[in-house]
Amino acid sequence: MVRALALLALFAAPAFAAEPCAPCAAWNTPQLPFKVYGNTYYVGPHGLSAILITSDAGHILIDGALADSAETIADNINALGFHPEDVKIILNSHAHYDHAGGIAELQRLGGARVMASLPSIVALLTGVPSPDDPQAGLAERFPRLTQAAPLVRDGQQVVLAPLKLTAHFTPGHTPGSTSWTWESCEGPVCRHMVYADSLTPMSAPGFKFSADPTLVATFRKSIAAVGALPCDILLTPHPDASGLWDRQSGKNFADKDACRRYADTAAKGLDRRLATEAK
Ligand SMILES: [Zn+2]
Repeated sequence: MVRALALLALFAAPAFAAEPCAPCAAWNTPQLPFKVYGNTYYVGPHGLSAILITSDAGHILIDGALADSAETIADNINALGFHPEDVKIILNSHAHYDHAGGIAELQRLGGARVMASLPSIVALLTGVPSPDDPQAGLAERFPRLTQAAPLVRDGQQVVLAPLKLTAHFTPGHTPGSTSWTWESCEGPVCRHMVYADSLTPMSAPGFKFSADPTLVATFRKSIAAVGALPCDILLTPHPDASGLWDRQSGKNFADKDACRRYADTAAKGLDRRLATEAK
């Protein structure tokens, strides 16, 4: 029995020692929820986005921030006059602890379906980055989904009529990275909304992007795809990465050039990373 327990403990032990999350407390600072445009709302904590897209038939939520953020997100949805149990579908940008950590709890609260790309589903069901993730062995574990998640294909429309979101696979930061687009309207004025995934070449120690030319080519294609999206209002998993708070203070989130600039910054970041690896 003791031996069996010891064996179990061996299997249950983390396969790696996660780095302590220095920025998590700042990321998780409470944030009053607010309307971005039309039926699109920001419901995340201050440093990590969670985006609610509402309709009379139910809502779609993108990302769940940290495990500790689930309650804040649910409270924020309530504060706007909506209900967490009306969230019918939860989507994800990428399956790391800081964007997927709260998803399992949010799913439990409202019974939503979680839909994701195949590599993301593998990570969501195990609670660790997939083995081919550049941050495998570095990024923290997160609460795993206990229900199978339906698969999303590249270019697929996720429909909760009248809501329609399109999946754009943008692998690079993770193998399952997905950017999402939809339209939100105020009266006759509709905006192209973009939730562009992280495009930063972060990795566990020892990983080299330059060792995998296919991965570099894939990453560049993802960056170019984000830069070319019809884009009136850009949102990103880390709100700072697209200057959300500057735009909020001006009460105008629209910036047609934002996706192109976000992509330019990402391309430069990848070039810098490859140059560093070549030294
Ligand atoms: Zn990440």
